[in-house]
Amino acid sequence: MIKKYIDKLFGRRTQVTHKDARPVIHGKDKHGIRRDDISRCARRTCEELQRAGHATFVVGGAVRDLLLGRKPKDFDVATSATPEEVRSVFRRSRIIGRRFQIVHVLCGAETVETSTFRAHFAREPDAENTDEHGRMLSDNVFGTQAEDAMRRDFTVNALFYDPVKEEVWDYVHGMKDLKARKLVMIGDAATRYREDPVRMLRAARLGAKLGLEIDSRTRAPIATHKHLLENVPQARLFEEILKLLLSGNAVECVRVLRELELHHGLLPLLDTALEDPEAGPFAMAALRATDERLAEGKPVSPAFLLAALLWGQVEKNLRRFESEGQATIPALHAAMHEALDVQRDSLAIPRRFDATMKELWLMQPRFLQRGGQRPHRLLEHPRFRAAYDFFALRAASANAPQEAAAWWERFQGVGPDERERMLVSDETGPKKKRRRRRGARKKGAEGTLLPDSQGASEE
Ligand code: ATP
Ligand code: MG
Repeated sequence: MIKKYIDKLFGRRTQVTHKDARPVIHGKDKHGIRRDDISRCARRTCEELQRAGHATFVVGGAVRDLLLGRKPKDFDVATSATPEEVRSVFRRSRIIGRRFQIVHVLCGAETVETSTFRAHFAREPDAENTDEHGRMLSDNVFGTQAEDAMRRDFTVNALFYDPVKEEVWDYVHGMKDLKARKLVMIGDAATRYREDPVRMLRAARLGAKLGLEIDSRTRAPIATHKHLLENVPQARLFEEILKLLLSGNAVECVRVLRELELHHGLLPLLDTALEDPEAGPFAMAALRATDERLAEGKPVSPAFLLAALLWGQVEKNLRRFESEGQATIPALHAAMHEALDVQRDSLAIPRRFDATMKELWLMQPRFLQRGGQRPHRLLEHPRFRAAYDFFALRAASANAPQEAAAWWERFQGVGPDERERMLVSDETGPKKKRRRRRGARKKGAEGTLLPDSQGASEE
């Protein structure tokens, strides 16, 4: 009882901050952010709005990242000006009417999201603004800067940087937590998870991505609140999972998700596939490859990664359908559809990814066919590169024959004569027969799996 009371008191120590609370202000010598670190457009937005008399700061992830010595993805601005006031200062700006109105300020190719300070805790979540599980439904209330700090999720996400005075304003001990490398929820963590369960996934993602330890009081309620993720709209959940997978630290994010037992029902990989001796290593390799590509500044395809994460399921289904006597191609089609359908029951992958995922899957057995014209045709396929990368990654994870991946590597690198030689040397009696047969039914076979690929995927 007493412990509960003390916990409550402590847990909420930041939440009771008065709406006119004063921040701790850290000068230039205390924070190490340089004005030049801020994008031109964000700086200009702050300068112009301040000139018009409005308190205006860079806020959130960008300040946090700069303090950690990382390059921010983008720069968000928070201001005391209302959306209309922001609009009137910048000729090139537009109000975006979402749940909460923000203004896009445009300079050249850059856009800066500018939000008016808002008070999330102007009132406690109540029956009017929460659903039956305590989830916040609207937070459309302007507020003071102190309130704007309080409505944010983690203390390290609630720091304001003024590029004019070069000061960091801190209402929630964010600087202290950042120095201690801690991720601390503002206010009572359980309440904040009830308002918005996605914050649990954000804790996993930001903790893993930034190498911050999730504070014990922030971590503890996750075990008893994780089921609330079931009430979050699918699109929002998927968006967050995608952010997690494309964070540049997906391997670590998934590890933390599993440690917090937040992974159930999100993607098959996050549930069981990672432990699967056959598909697990490939799924993991795909996560690692994504992290590596991002570290090298290369583009990554979400569909590729999702296809890799679901591949184990597709393969399992495929084997089942084949063992029931279906031929490979129809079995593969059925396997794909079933995998996607089952996935839709837990976390719906938007349909815009379907076509690319299916194409990658359908091309896999074709890498096992190395006779006749087939390799040439596969090489010319517009998605060859992605499909080959997928196959090579499978091979590297003992999910496909390494020798076949090596053959394809070589086939791509050599000239036309050597390619012919490679084909011929690979040609065996039965395949010649097949070639004749395929010639006879050329029309129907075009573009997809060939009928004689049966058994090819058995290797
Ligand atoms: P990233 O580096 O992934 O962009 P971020 O912290 O900037 O991380 P955003 O989703 O861009 O994440 O959000 C910007 C800011 O908005 C956060 O820093 C935080 O202050 C606030 N915020 C975002 N999501 C929530 C949430 N669910 N609850 C409370 N505050 C949030
Ligand atoms: Mg951000």
